[in-house]
Amino acid sequence: MINPTLAEVIDDLALVDHHVHGVLRVDLDRDEFEDVITESDRPRRSGTTNFDSQFGLAVRKYCSPLLGLEAFASPEHYVDQRAALGVAEVNRRLLRAAGLGAMIIDTGFAGSKVTDIRETAELSGVAAYEIVRLEAVAEQVVRDGSTAEGFADLVRGVLTDAKSRGAIGTKSIAAYRYGLDLDPTRPSEHDLLVAVGRWLGECESSGRVRLEEPTILRFLLWCGVDLGLPLQIHIGYGDSDINLLRSNPALLTDFLKATEHSGTAVMLLHCYPYHREAAYLTQMFPHVFFDIGEAINYAGLQSRQIIRESLEIAPFTKQLYSSDGWGASELHYIGAVLWRRGMTEVLSEWVAADECTLADAIRVARLIGVDNAVAAYGISPVH
Ligand SMILES: [Zn+2]
Repeated sequence: MINPTLAEVIDDLALVDHHVHGVLRVDLDRDEFEDVITESDRPRRSGTTNFDSQFGLAVRKYCSPLLGLEAFASPEHYVDQRAALGVAEVNRRLLRAAGLGAMIIDTGFAGSKVTDIRETAELSGVAAYEIVRLEAVAEQVVRDGSTAEGFADLVRGVLTDAKSRGAIGTKSIAAYRYGLDLDPTRPSEHDLLVAVGRWLGECESSGRVRLEEPTILRFLLWCGVDLGLPLQIHIGYGDSDINLLRSNPALLTDFLKATEHSGTAVMLLHCYPYHREAAYLTQMFPHVFFDIGEAINYAGLQSRQIIRESLEIAPFTKQLYSSDGWGASELHYIGAVLWRRGMTEVLSEWVAADECTLADAIRVARLIGVDNAVAAYGISPVH
């Protein structure tokens, strides 16, 4: 059933991983490794292992041979061998095996724990680009002592500086901090000033700086629009910090209508289980794109049906590849492997059924794996 020419072309694609993070620099013991192969931050139920999951199966099948073990090594052997090789060697092997052409890196989540952009580029041997997380900018500006009056200009200044030093996009995690059911309009200066004043007061009384104020989250989204670089927005599947109901991208419809003539592309990230809603939005609005990263990893073998669904109504020019790997380089690698396998399987069926030509199938794979990201972010094609 697999078309061998298609399989070869897809295996050789230098994928652009358009939403990804760095990798941990420290060796992990069994419990620590278990913690990074799930999106949950809760303790495991006693007597269970996170290897009893699609991702656990995928690690044992696909990563074991790269670490010099038989496929389907036991969890104990896998974690022992990982430690014996040392984290730097494991990261290097897995990142290189992912066969990427470029990584577009979000440095905003626990960035100090993982490799930075330069280190990640060295380990993977490919170009790495920066995405600036909007909420992290706002929180840093406050930690640096901003007043309510100075806040807006300071945030805009940091973003402009990031653009001039080569950052290629921004990212909003409003879904984590409030929900996507935000007022879609640009907040007035007065409303922003009141909201920042209130937030600064909360920061002072609680002793912590965490942005959850919807007016400010909305201001940041518009800062991203104004900057003119692709604006990534977290959608759907994430860690336990999220309210899944309020992270449905259909909630962004009015915001997408309000921004469609801005010239700024909006990238809906992850999307599962709302990848069908996201696909609909990409068909409606020329400036909207989506990916199904993260779900591919955690759905493992079953990611094929998510890939299949992602190819329903979305134009082929509107989907991008992402692994959303963070911390464990197994995520960076398996994301790429499963994407290649799933795309090969689905597209081979189309060709075998004579529903499209081999050339069409190759074009679809190239668009999603490489070309759409190259065009949207304006990065140089990688050969
Ligand atoms: Zn991510």
